[in-house]
Amino acid sequence: MGRVAFTHVTKRFGDVVAVDDLTVVVNDGEFFVLLGPSGCGKSTALRMVAGLEEVTEGVIEIGDRAVNRVPPKDRDIAMVFQSYALYPHMTVRRNIEFPLRTREVPRAERNTLVEHAAEILGLDTLLDRKPSQLSGGQRQRVALARAIVRQPEVFLMDEPLSNLDAKLRASTRVELVALQRTLATTVVYVTHDQVEAMTMGDRIAIMFEGALQQVGAPQDVYDKPANRFVAEFIGTPPMNTFAARLVSPDTLAIGAGTLPLDGVVADPATSEVIAGVRPEHLVVTSNDAGSEPGDAATTDGLVGTVTLVESLGHERHTRVRLDTGTELVVRQPASAVALVVGRGVRLRAKAHDVHLYDQASGIRLARDV
Ligand code: ATP
Repeated sequence: MGRVAFTHVTKRFGDVVAVDDLTVVVNDGEFFVLLGPSGCGKSTALRMVAGLEEVTEGVIEIGDRAVNRVPPKDRDIAMVFQSYALYPHMTVRRNIEFPLRTREVPRAERNTLVEHAAEILGLDTLLDRKPSQLSGGQRQRVALARAIVRQPEVFLMDEPLSNLDAKLRASTRVELVALQRTLATTVVYVTHDQVEAMTMGDRIAIMFEGALQQVGAPQDVYDKPANRFVAEFIGTPPMNTFAARLVSPDTLAIGAGTLPLDGVVADPATSEVIAGVRPEHLVVTSNDAGSEPGDAATTDGLVGTVTLVESLGHERHTRVRLDTGTELVVRQPASAVALVVGRGVRLRAKAHDVHLYDQASGIRLARDV
């Protein structure tokens, strides 16, 4: 059983709380991603599973066994690092079979396992080379092959694709997911790259300052970020967040403009909230806010001025400064009419695309629809 459970796990380095009361269960056979910015504690969490760091408080289980006191070699895990950690003087074959040799696996079985792993990863023709004669992507695959031959219950991967260039990273991402499906082994995968997390994870856990922020399927996390940190962290460009006021159960005011809401906030502590709208959910409905007949009197939508237009080829990111001074980013397909810097615009969003967060705690405000 490749289940991994953290129960109230804390790790302190002196005064630094690297992991703060982490409770989460990784299911057997799941591709589980720990995601967060540098220093959030994700590597430390993984290293505790591997047994490379001691747990200060709490319990880590692999399968049904608490492993806090189990030495790394007896944990039935295999770890793949960013640095690959290959032995430069050994051939690819020797590197891959290294963990089998230390376990004194008989030669015939060793050869079968090495050749099988090499075949899965397309390394069959490279077995006699040394790591220095391989590309970064090939070295990465040797490190994976070395993990595979151990046939562990759980793979632990710490930013394994970071040393690859963008193109190779994208293709290796796909290969790694396919490999995990083939092996049906649990993977706990650490990254700061949200694209990796979104595309590879069955579920992702987002961490910040040692604390777990949200766990869920990538799309659920994207659609309903549990707090302001997650809202601003997931998505490129990130969600626009700005101060707003609840003026009626179904209306939000931002300066002189308004946005509709599709539900009533249960018991708001204050009418002052943080609103969030993703750049792709902002729609430009008028190219010149004041010029359309009757339009100037409308308060519906947000009125602002275009300050910057960035073209990325397939889409454009247009910055609009509102009368409140807040800058919002609007994401448009390249086929949309390009806006010009200095133009007045009116932005609208659908009610269900407007997110609300508590101003003080940053926690998502539930709405009764
Ligand atoms: P990165 O992506 O940069 O590796 P991370 O999210 O993996 O970051 P960790 O490496 O887990 O973060 O570190 C979490 C916190 O613990 C950081 O503040 C870090 O400085 C601290 N830390 C990690 N290892 C040690 C150590 N051996 N001694 C002291 N502090 C440490």
